[in-house]
Amino acid sequence: MGLSGTKRVLIAGGGVAALEAALALRELAEQGLKIELLAPEPHFWYRPLSVAEPFELGEAHRYELGSLAAAAGATFTLATLEGVDVAGHRAMTSVGDISYDILLVAIGAVPTVAVEGALTFRGPADSDKIRDLLDALSAGSVTRVAFVVPSGAVWSLPNYELALMTAAELEQRQVGGVELLLVTPEEEPLQLFGRDGSWAVRELLAERGIAVHARAYASEFADGELRLVPEGRLDVDRVVALPRLRGPRVDGLPQTVEGFIPVDPHCRVRGVDEVYAAGDITTFPIKQGGIATQLADAAAEAIASHLGADVRPRPFRPVLRGLLLTGGRPHYLRRELTGTGKVDTHSPEPLWWPPAKIVGRHLAPFLARFAGLEHPPEAAPPAGVIEIDIDLAAGDPSGSARVPLPALEGDGDTIGGLMSTELLVVAPEDTLGEVAEKMREHDTGSALVADYGRLIGILTSRDLLRAFAGRVHPSEARVREWMTAEPISLPNTAGAPAAVLLMNEHGIHHLPVVEGERPVGMLGYRQAVAAMSRRGIGLGF
Ligand SMILES: Cc1cc2nc3c(=O)[nH]c(=O)nc-3n(C[C@H](O)[C@H](O)[C@H](O)COP(=O)(O)OP(=O)(O)OC[C@H]3O[C@@H](n4cnc5c(N)ncnc54)[C@H](O)[C@@H]3O)c2cc1C
Repeated sequence: MGLSGTKRVLIAGGGVAALEAALALRELAEQGLKIELLAPEPHFWYRPLSVAEPFELGEAHRYELGSLAAAAGATFTLATLEGVDVAGHRAMTSVGDISYDILLVAIGAVPTVAVEGALTFRGPADSDKIRDLLDALSAGSVTRVAFVVPSGAVWSLPNYELALMTAAELEQRQVGGVELLLVTPEEEPLQLFGRDGSWAVRELLAERGIAVHARAYASEFADGELRLVPEGRLDVDRVVALPRLRGPRVDGLPQTVEGFIPVDPHCRVRGVDEVYAAGDITTFPIKQGGIATQLADAAAEAIASHLGADVRPRPFRPVLRGLLLTGGRPHYLRRELTGTGKVDTHSPEPLWWPPAKIVGRHLAPFLARFAGLEHPPEAAPPAGVIEIDIDLAAGDPSGSARVPLPALEGDGDTIGGLMSTELLVVAPEDTLGEVAEKMREHDTGSALVADYGRLIGILTSRDLLRAFAGRVHPSEARVREWMTAEPISLPNTAGAPAAVLLMNEHGIHHLPVVEGERPVGMLGYRQAVAAMSRRGIGLGF
């Protein structure tokens, strides 16, 4: 299919979402489209197999981005996206300005330390540290190790793989007297995959003698103690933790406090024309390769349609597929949530082809072809595998704080009964002067910003100070320019533990409460903690 005139789509990023989007776009519009990829790294990294490297069960592959881009019908520029001039349709990059008709931001997330003092496993660069840990366990100088899933937006599966493969490796080396712990804020191991998937994983962990500490929030590791919040500790020799993810900053685009970009179900960046975002950089809380490709596919369809291709864009509909390396007997398992919700397939053979860890409609077969694999392998995969396929139901990728906490909802008091309903709600076009006056009248330090009834921001007295210190005029500056967009919020059906967890994690003392998308209350930290201690439920553990 062709477009009228040549349109220029600039894709910032050279990872999973960027490549999937380029491939999908090329399929949707063979002619009339110039696709340019832009990334600061000349390689595409296929990171999931990095967990297998220390155990010699696989390795993280990397490919030249220039060659991949050419094979995908795109060009590649080695540069960093630094900012966007939305009105001028220009991307500000480390090699100068680049003009575009459509910009797709797919720049991934940056790993940061979640548990101070722990070995943070970010990918291939940390394989040697795991090798050293295995040697220390074999030598007997380390005997108790905790594998920690941090709270927040992460993909927890690699942590389970590391724990399971460590246990398998120690068994193979005939090392005894070791205790392995799996510490996670989830209610059940790999909770996102539902009850059956969770139980399968729990059984595997039990078989390997790995003790599960669920509903546990680790904060730091020091002096042989893994400290938990709000209280508790585990005595261990070493801690391996996954990182907490943050979005790289891009001037000119809306981003949450953690740097994630809010998008609608077609991956359009909220409030910004002709700019789309896909992958880990978006506010969708599951930071996973398969999800990144699905976001990219939704973005590609919306972009092609916007540019005039004859395509009806479908909204993002997340389907979760996990392939768990266990270091033991190969074991595939498939779960359909849209049907009966039962585990319906077990198989020692791959259940999809190519048997990729990152399942992308275009990316997986493309990479397989690129690697010269046109046919299914004759031999079984090298390590034990569980495949789980879950339909998360039609999703709103902007649901930053809503998706990852389902199990905490309704546990004890719901925050709907704890929050204050005396709210100051203002409009994005109100002036700062008007809002300052209302804050004084209501004797409050913050105002919620709603657009057509939907919570879109929060403005605090600190924002006002910032604005006035910058000498803006109170009757000219607008709330929209100074508010924090897409603030962290919780539904009124959430439980107090979920609220305290979020406030601890983000260092905030007030949390907007919503019903649907409508702001209905404000919850103070003290109210939430008091409710928890009244019921003695702690942070869920
Ligand atoms: C150890 C590990 C194991 C994993 N296991 C799995 C798994 O089993 N299954 C699964 O589905 N997912 C897994 N994931 C997650 C998966 O790798 C990510 O979710 C996925 O790569 C996200 O894709 P993305 O395109 O958003 O970001 P990335 O793939 O990280 O790509 C981001 C790209 O943007 C570029 N970039 C960064 N900043 C800029 C900038 N300012 N301007 C331009 N370009 C920029 C980067 O160089 C890179 O090319 C794993 C991740 C890790 C670390």
